[in-house]
This record gives sequence, structure tokens and C-alpha cells, in this order.
Amino acid sequence: MTPVYLDHNATAPLLPAARAAMVAALDLVGNPSSVHRFGREARRTVETARRSVADLLGVGTGQVVFTSGATEAANLVIRGIGRRILVSATEHDAVRAPAAATGDARTVPVDRDGLIDPAVLDRMLAADPRPALVAVMAVNNETGVIQPMDAVRAVASRHGALVLCDAVQAAGRLPLRDLGDLVVVSAHKMGGPAGVGALAVPDGLPVVPLVLGGGQERRRRAGTENVVGIAGFGAAAAVAATHHDCGPLRDRMEAALRGADPGLLVFGAGAPRVGNTTLVAMPGVASETQLMAFDLAGIAVSAGAACSSGKVATSHVLEAMGVPDEIARTAVRVSLGRGTVAADVDRLVAAWTDLRRRTAARAA
Ligand code: PLP
Repeated sequence: MTPVYLDHNATAPLLPAARAAMVAALDLVGNPSSVHRFGREARRTVETARRSVADLLGVGTGQVVFTSGATEAANLVIRGIGRRILVSATEHDAVRAPAAATGDARTVPVDRDGLIDPAVLDRMLAADPRPALVAVMAVNNETGVIQPMDAVRAVASRHGALVLCDAVQAAGRLPLRDLGDLVVVSAHKMGGPAGVGALAVPDGLPVVPLVLGGGQERRRRAGTENVVGIAGFGAAAAVAATHHDCGPLRDRMEAALRGADPGLLVFGAGAPRVGNTTLVAMPGVASETQLMAFDLAGIAVSAGAACSSGKVATSHVLEAMGVPDEIARTAVRVSLGRGTVAADVDRLVAAWTDLRRRTAARAA
């Protein structure tokens, strides 16, 4: 039985182009900071990748800071910018946790589809004249819901606030230009390796570094660059610049699931969503039970957010959307990617329908 991978929002499979770039970089011996020819060659690899990431984000190369991932990039901004923070309720923990640690963060609520209301943000910004950072993700990792970044930016700029946009789940799915003043991305969500990401920061904006040491990354992130990872990231970013629409497959899947369950609950269905993500409930059947059943059928999906501890916690995203706990605990996220084909989606639909029938028969 060929395994079916439908968990691209957790990590996308390594793209052949990223693998090739990394294999080539493994043979580089130089340190990018060394002035000799070996160092210059390693530097060239890093700077070529920087160009590719900068182009993806629509910024200058001088604005791109390579980090160990989106988590570090978000921490760098939030902890180093010295502003009060307004953070949308459905942000990833990579943003929520450092925001909470500042002791000066407030949560911007979302509606039942997971969208923030720019008018509410406007009022929250007006209520406190101190310089603010507004953290809103472009695309939610659990639901795929797309936030109205243009409106968020317009409101923020009226109040002199800066916008930090977590664009991790938007890469390869939406244009990444102009999403925020500061933008974070992660290589492994776009077909690059895990453990490398980037922050785009405006020229001249002071951000206190998290990591002190050498003067790498224009003194914004010390430590010898991860040349191999960065090479893979650059190659993946070039591919991500060409968008891939999984929408038709996702729609086929949702229509088939709806055929099996006319009352199907798809979270965020009333909002704009990227084409690759479906978060769907099977009432009465715990997420863990579903994950195990699908795993036995050779299909990898996830229960909302993948938890680092391997345990499935209740989703703060669904809680913020007002979803009752007993329903949230039955949610499963199916996330498609570049390699997904109709047969993969059909396997999931068959396994889902089978499990639903079996559990309904047992309950009767
Ligand atoms: N932001 C979002 C929306 C994510 O989905 C993730 C990964 O799960 C992260 C941030 C963290 O990225 P990284 O694994 O590169 O630290």
C-alpha cells in the first residue's frame, strides 16, 4: 500500500531542486565569512539563496535575515522590536508565545470563520498611543483561512503601527509581496529543509538581536550561516514563486466528504481559504482515533496543529473561533501539496467515509 502524505502544512516533502542545491553545497568547504576563494564560493551560495528569498518576498536582499526557522524569525522581531504587541487570536505559537513573554501583548479576536475585523484592530490601536507591532498571519496553518492583510496594513499605518506577517503557510499559495512591514517564512513549508527560515525587515529598523556573537547577517543574527540549509531554502523559494493551486482537488475532496455527510463541518468555510487546506470535524470520533485509523489505511493527516510533544492539544484556533471543545476534539486537518493527485484525495475520502460508517454503526 503506497503511503499518502496529506500533511503538507506540517512539512512539505523536499523538492528535487532543493535536494540538488543542498547536495552541491555539501561539497563547499569554505566559511562564508572567509576572504579566500573557498569562503567566497560559500558566500556566493548564501547570497544566491538570499536573492531568491528576497524575490519571493518582494524585498531587497539587504532586508533578508536568515534564521533557524520561522519560530526564531518571529522571536527576533517580537522580542527585539521594543513595541507593545497586538496579536491575532489564531497566530501560531511561534508568535503567540514570544508575544506573551513580552508581558505587553493583547489579543485581537477573530470571528467564527477565524477572520480578524480591521475595525476592532482600529479601536485597539486607538486605545493606546504607544508604538505598536501588529502580528497577523497571512494564512492560518490549521484552517487555511486568509486574513485581510491589505486592510490590516492600512489600519496599522494610520496609527503608525508596524505589521508583522507570518507568511509561512502562504508561500507557494499566495503572492507574498506587501504582506507586512516585517515578514517571516520557513523553508520546510515550501519544499526546503527544516531548520532554516528568514525574516524580512525594513532597512534601518532597529531590532535587537536574539543571538550575539560574530557580525553575520548584518549583525542581526550571529553565527556561521547554515550554508547547506540556506542553499536548499533558496532553491525551494524559487519554486514557491510559482504558485501551485490545489483548490480543484480540495474542492473535489470536500464535495465527496459532503456526499458522505451532508452536515459536514468544515472550519473557516465562510472565509477565503488557500486551496490546499481543509480542517474538518467528524462529530463523536476523537481526532486521535481518526489519525490512527487513517494511518492504518496508509494516510498521513494531522489533528489541527502538530504538537511538538507528539500529543494533540485542544486547538486555540478553534477555541478562538468559538468552536465548542467537544467538536474541536474531533477535527482533522488535511493539507495537500504539489505532489498530491486525485487518487490520494480519493483514498482519504474512502477511509474517512468508512470510519464514519463504522463509528456510526457502533453508536447506533
Ligand atoms: N508559523 C506557522 C503558521 C507555522 O505553520 C509554523 C510551523 O509549524 C511556524 C510558524 C514555525 O515554523 P518553523 O518550523 O520554521 O519554526
